[in-house]
Amino acid sequence: MTSASRHCIRLKDVTVTPAGLSPAGFRILAAIDHLAQLFLIDMVATSIVRASSTVHQRGEAVDISVRDWPEWRVMAVWTTLRSSLGTDFAVLYEVPALPDQGILRDIAYHNPSATAPHLHIQLRKGFGVWPPHANS
Ligand SMILES: [Zn+2]
Repeated sequence: MTSASRHCIRLKDVTVTPAGLSPAGFRILAAIDHLAQLFLIDMVATSIVRASSTVHQRGEAVDISVRDWPEWRVMAVWTTLRSSLGTDFAVLYEVPALPDQGILRDIAYHNPSATAPHLHIQLRKGFGVWPPHANS
């Protein structure tokens, strides 16, 4: 039997906490953890539940650092997460300044208050409670 990859989600520092995570957040973390094993890299969560953002405060969003990632990996993880999470969720490549060129220009989402480029994954805005019904 082959041993499973230990690549996983790591927390950037002690300020990053999943306390108060919702089922939508569980789904997001599960998808990210799966990609950590698929891509054989650790995913660094820079924000999970925090008070300064409504969607993060509700436990429905996760931020993943893309620091030192090649552009192709950002694109591949963005694409794969969108596909695996489906239309209930939004996957944003948030940047403090839009790139002038490169393959990420078309997917970049300008957030002037972002401290660094990152993937912000959240329950789709206005969705309501996820999952919408028990056992469906
Ligand atoms: Zn975020």
